[in-house]
Amino acid sequence: MVKLAIDGGAPVRDSFLPYGKQSIDEKDIESVLSVIRGAMITQGPMIERFEGKVAEYVGAKYAVAFSNGTAALHAAYYAAGLTKGDEVITTPITFVATSNAALYVGAKPVFADIDEYTYQLSPNQVEKKINVNTRAIVSVDFAGQPVEYDRFRDLAKKHNLVYISDGAHSLGAQYKGKPVGTQADMTMFSFHPVKPVTTGEGGIIVTDSSEYAERLELFRSHGIKKDGLLEYHGPWYYEMHDLGMNYRMTDIQAALGFTQMDKLDSFMKRRREIATIYTKSFIEEIGIEIPTVHADVLSGWHLYILRFNSQCFSVDRKAIFEALRAENIGVHVHYIPVYLQPYYQQLGYHADCPNANNWYEEVITLPIFPSMTNKDVTDVIEAVKKVYYHYRVEA
Ligand SMILES: *Cc1c(COP(=O)(O)O)cnc(C)c1O
Repeated sequence: MVKLAIDGGAPVRDSFLPYGKQSIDEKDIESVLSVIRGAMITQGPMIERFEGKVAEYVGAKYAVAFSNGTAALHAAYYAAGLTKGDEVITTPITFVATSNAALYVGAKPVFADIDEYTYQLSPNQVEKKINVNTRAIVSVDFAGQPVEYDRFRDLAKKHNLVYISDGAHSLGAQYKGKPVGTQADMTMFSFHPVKPVTTGEGGIIVTDSSEYAERLELFRSHGIKKDGLLEYHGPWYYEMHDLGMNYRMTDIQAALGFTQMDKLDSFMKRRREIATIYTKSFIEEIGIEIPTVHADVLSGWHLYILRFNSQCFSVDRKAIFEALRAENIGVHVHYIPVYLQPYYQQLGYHADCPNANNWYEEVITLPIFPSMTNKDVTDVIEAVKKVYYHYRVEA
């Protein structure tokens, strides 16, 4: 048997392969340079152009850009009118920002369990958590796979709730033949470097509601209004109508996002190619579960996650993970259930979603990003198989 790198053998790769990474080309660099050479580096014309491009791509009427995705979620919860005493139902298998932003507005995140197979927030579990205090459902297109949008929308309608989508992973993905972005009342996309396209830091909310769009803009810039003022003292005059934030995106960020959007479809194509190769390589291996994808969606493959059934291996997930890292494969784990975080434990949360808990014990995220070469992909497969055959328990 080949010696694992963790046991002193030669690693599959000499250099470390991260799990995700931005793809920046000369056009992106030129676009950013043209802004920083100009007069307006913050509130210039690129922000509206970028917002228009994202709105057009997803087919939404309005898009409001923010300094990051977390700020965008905060603004969406504000725009939805969420406040103290309100409950927001979401998934524990997400980045902490999804539920943190509910805490920012004084609302209470309530975690509903994930589906056992798709590892997405389960509409049935959400329905069980709805009570008189529930005001919103926030689903997450985890790993880039769109959730069962129609079911969440029906639930929201039936119980008079706001439906917000955390689409941080799913810009460019499709639900029933349409781009993600118009299924919920508001949808957030993040432009962090590992996300589908990047602006460095950045985020956006897309919506078809002019009312939400107006409130998002108000919150983004200190609660200061440009139109519909109560008085007019002169050309310098502005009015602050609510306690907003400074959550504005800069023109520099927007310039990067503008040219990145031109590459979104080619990025998606490459991610799908890599996912297909992974799936073909692992589908027959007993003890490894490949991702389950719904027939009516096209996943954006933000993450490619394998589940290692613990009873099929002589070691636990941590040992498999460390063995892969030793082979120089930048595996990761997405996510630690949010309620396990010390801050949430302190707030009194319990680990009461069994599917999420079991999921967390067994999963490993493989590297996937558009600029991965075929050699990178082959290295990942070789390393996984090397470690798999080493630790697999014969049936
Ligand atoms: C990245 C991410 C966010 C936050 O976006 P930032 O732009 O990093 O603030 C929120 N939710 C999920 C699921 C994410 O992956």
